[in-house]
Amino acid sequence: MNTRFNDALTQLPKALADTVSPMLTDHFAGHLSAEQLKELSDQSGLSGAELYLALLPIAATLSYAPISNFFVGAIAHGESGDIYMGANMELVGEALFHSVHAEQSAISHAWLAGEQKLVGITVNYSPCGHCRQFMTELNNNDNLIIRLPEQPAQPLTHYLPYAFGPKDLGMEDGLLDGNDHEMTLDSDDPLVQRALREANASYAPYSKTPAAIVLATESGQVFVGRYAENAAFNPSLPPMQMAINAMARQGIGFDRIHRAILVEGDKGQISFLHSASDALGTISQVQLETYKAQS
Ligand SMILES: [Zn+2]
Repeated sequence: MNTRFNDALTQLPKALADTVSPMLTDHFAGHLSAEQLKELSDQSGLSGAELYLALLPIAATLSYAPISNFFVGAIAHGESGDIYMGANMELVGEALFHSVHAEQSAISHAWLAGEQKLVGITVNYSPCGHCRQFMTELNNNDNLIIRLPEQPAQPLTHYLPYAFGPKDLGMEDGLLDGNDHEMTLDSDDPLVQRALREANASYAPYSKTPAAIVLATESGQVFVGRYAENAAFNPSLPPMQMAINAMARQGIGFDRIHRAILVEGDKGQISFLHSASDALGTISQVQLETYKAQS
């Protein structure tokens, strides 16, 4: 077990802590399969919402919050039955809009893992307005259930009534619906091609600027971020922040970054070149490699 979870385990019921402990390996980044959840449920006697709430201290341990020292953990429940943890992230030395919120982290985790629909989000503090807006972009926003400690489960529409969302801008689809932008890029570099695949799966219905980031370590670990746009624009989650957050969730030091690659569409109305370089520059000396994909 990775020792970063020691404190969290003391906050769990003993039977749950004993069962989950061997699952918290050095590679653990917050994903538990439906099978693992069944084992946790069988051994702890907790199920459903009780189990998710009990696991929140594990999710909050994935936080990287050097500015606030306020550790938020969230758990996204996929339609598949798997769960995906996320946590807040802050970058010292840059403006606060580079921050990633726990709900954004959990949702992006599920999206990158291939989930196509979320049925609920459990979080240890009440979702902020930014996250309520971010969650409204989800394709299942009308049915998404929010769970908090000491509160009855409520749909997202309870937390954000009269919401402004994708439908107000004429969009039928939402975040987590599949995308293929069918962009191409002339490169034999496998990491560049990986970034292209992720950019093709990104969600940019308003700016029409598909984009993705690949961060690679010298030992060959790869972390990716896809652009996740939002109808209200500002809550959009840029690809660099999503990729850095994927590293943070796994507890990998940013000094391990060896290459950083941005691929974005050549016909979009915006660009991530400057914001991605700024965010990267706070955590790494590595220069951002940038590519325009043909659409
Ligand atoms: Zn938030």
